[in-house]
Amino acid sequence: MKVKSSTGLYCLIGNPLEKSLSPDIHNTSFDINKVDAVYTALEVKPEYLEDAVKGIKALNIKGFNVTIPHKVEIIPYLDELDREANLLGAVNTVKNVNGRLKGYNTDGKGFIELLKSKRVKVKNQKVIVIGAGGAARAIAMSLAIEGVKEILIVNRTIEKARTLSDEIKDKVKDITVKYSLKSEKEYAEYDLIINCTSIGMYPDAESVPFDLSLLSKSCTVADIVYKPLKTKFLQLAESRGHQTVEGLGMLINQALLSEEIWLDKTIEKELVLKELVKGF
Ligand code: NAP
Repeated sequence: MKVKSSTGLYCLIGNPLEKSLSPDIHNTSFDINKVDAVYTALEVKPEYLEDAVKGIKALNIKGFNVTIPHKVEIIPYLDELDREANLLGAVNTVKNVNGRLKGYNTDGKGFIELLKSKRVKVKNQKVIVIGAGGAARAIAMSLAIEGVKEILIVNRTIEKARTLSDEIKDKVKDITVKYSLKSEKEYAEYDLIINCTSIGMYPDAESVPFDLSLLSKSCTVADIVYKPLKTKFLQLAESRGHQTVEGLGMLINQALLSEEIWLDKTIEKELVLKELVKGF
């Protein structure tokens, strides 16, 4: 694309950022969606976070993403939070409207949108979330907001599963939240299982996070690990006849939901996904 004086600038702040796929995702999307903008990654050390936010305001940058280690620490510098960011206490997207900064969190919503695009039912369903880290927290909270009936959090560190379970029960009404260590019993009554751990991620690509024989065939199997695109967990699930959902779609959705917030318009996502899959 040709950069002109009218070209908008959007960015990611975090540290380190050399492996971030965000510039590729956003610039591909700006190209496909014909948005006159460019996106770059700016490494910001923790001690410069406040200065960076002031700089963003001074330069009137209209929107930016936030990643590790600033997702929580950015909050005091913002003027307002949306419901999801408020419930999670973490922000990944900021919109700048005339110097007023509003924080959002699109991580969980990106996953919910992916499920909807695959016609996977969420409301009133029973879901197993494997993991209790940052991604599991965002996904579990979004599932709770979307109205799932029950969430079972399975994690090797049981205290973290209990903390997340308590937090969801505290913040969302009318939901059952349970937690357990791995594979204690049969899980035949669950409708959806999501791997939110790094198990199966390259170079550990032969590992699987859960014994699929414990699930019923009607259970949808999702993995948020996107390297490899189709993890061993998903390959095995497919061979057993389960519907499967790959993680790259979540990564792209959460990024493109940020664009929708910044630009106040619907962004075409399928074409962006197709283009980016070519590079995987
Ligand atoms: P995190 O906060 O560090 O949490 C890691 C989770 O994985 C914890 O629950 C941890 O269990 C568990 N875990 C790690 N290694 C394990 C092992 N060998 N055995 C059992 N459990 C293990 O990380 P995160 O940010 O949540 O990210 C988790 C994964 O999701 C990463 O692979 C990341 O690349 C991927 N991700 C994908 C997307 C996407 O858009 N598709 C978005 C975010 C993250 P303990 O609590 O016991 O340590």
